[in-house]
Amino acid sequence: MIYLDNAATTKIYKKAQDARAMAEDQAFANSSSIHSFGMKSNNLLKESRQIIANVIGSKADEIYFTKGATEANNIAISSLSGEYNIAITSSIEHSSVYASYKNNIYKDVIYLKNDSHGFIDIDCLKNNLSEDVKIVSIIYANNETGTIQDIRKISNIVKSYNKDIVMHIDATQAMGKISCDVNKLNVDLMSFSAHKFHGPKGVGGLYVRKEVLNKIKPVLYGGYQQVISSGTDNHPEIYAMAIALKEQIDADEFNYVNDLNQYMRELIKNNISDYIINSPDHDYSPYVLSVGFAKIKSEVLLHMLENKDIFVSSGSACSKGNNNRILEALNVDSKYSDGVIRFSFNGENTKEELDYVIDVLKDSIEEIRRVM
Ligand code: PMP
Repeated sequence: MIYLDNAATTKIYKKAQDARAMAEDQAFANSSSIHSFGMKSNNLLKESRQIIANVIGSKADEIYFTKGATEANNIAISSLSGEYNIAITSSIEHSSVYASYKNNIYKDVIYLKNDSHGFIDIDCLKNNLSEDVKIVSIIYANNETGTIQDIRKISNIVKSYNKDIVMHIDATQAMGKISCDVNKLNVDLMSFSAHKFHGPKGVGGLYVRKEVLNKIKPVLYGGYQQVISSGTDNHPEIYAMAIALKEQIDADEFNYVNDLNQYMRELIKNNISDYIINSPDHDYSPYVLSVGFAKIKSEVLLHMLENKDIFVSSGSACSKGNNNRILEALNVDSKYSDGVIRFSFNGENTKEELDYVIDVLKDSIEEIRRVM
C-alpha cells in the first residue's frame, strides 16, 4: 500500500501505541482520584502537558486537552461570540472553524480575501480591523494546499491595532512539522489534533495563553477537570499524543519530506500535461501537494489509484463533497477544479513509491481523458 493521505490522518507511531497500552494497563485510575494510583495517572497528564509545552514554548498549565482540533476550534470561537462582537477569519479555513462561525452569534464575521495559493490579503486584514473585533482565526498550514501563513506578521498587525483582540490559529497541519512556538507566533489560542502527527485519533488540545483564560467558556460543563471542557481525562490517549509529538519532532524529517514533495512536482511536470499546482512554491508545508488535472473527475481518478493500492484524497477528506468552498476561494479555474487531488506525505514515503505512483497516475489520466 502507498499511503499519500496523511493530511487526513496518519498511522499511529509504535511508541505512541506502547505508551497508551502502558497507561491503560499500569495507570488506569481516574486522574482526578486523590489516591496514589490516581496520582500515577495524573502524573502522566502532567508529563504530557510538559512535553507539549516544551514543543510550543508555553507554560505547562496553558495546555488544555480536547477530543481534537474540532473541539478546540469550537471552544475558541464560541468563547468570543456575542451580539456586539466581530470576528475576522480567512475564506480557506477548515470546516470546523467555518461551521463554528456559522453557528455562533457574532455581530459580523469578516472573511479575508486570499490569492490563488491561499495567502491571505494583509491589506484586507488591516482595512477590517475595528473596535468591535474580538477574535481573529487563521489556519496556519492549510490542510488542502499546505500554504503556510505568516502568522507572526498577521498577529503583530492585529496586536498593534489592539492587544486585546484574541489571536487564534488552527495549527492542526503544522504541529510537529513546522515551528509552533506560541511566543514567536504571538498567538493566544492554538488548536491541534494528535492523529495528524502519528498520535491516536480523538484527542487533541487547545493552547490558551494565561492572560486570555478568563475569556474562554467551556463547551461541556461538568467536573471542571480542565476548566475549558469537562469530563474524565483520557490520559492514556493524551500521553500517547505527547509521546507521538516528541517522536514526530525527533524524526526531523522536514527536509526529507520536502525532497519528496519537490520530486513529485518534478515527476508530474515531466509526465503529465495540462494541470495546475494549487500549492504555493514558497512558504508551503511539504507534507501537502494539491494538484488540479484538466479533464479529470477527481473521484474517478482517486478510485483508479485505489485499485492500484495508492491512497490519496480528492481535495479534502474532511469536507465530504463540500470542498468547493476552498477551491472557489482559491479561484481555481473550472477547467481544473473538478480534478483536484491532494497528495499528502509522511516521513516514511519514498521516491520509489512516487515513481510507481506517477506511472499509475499517468496511465489513469490518459485513460480517463480518452473516454471523457
Ligand atoms: N483543522 C484542520 C486544518 C484539519 O486538517 C483538521 C482535520 N482534518 C481539523 C481542524 C479537525 O481535526 P479533528 O478532525 O481531529 O478534530
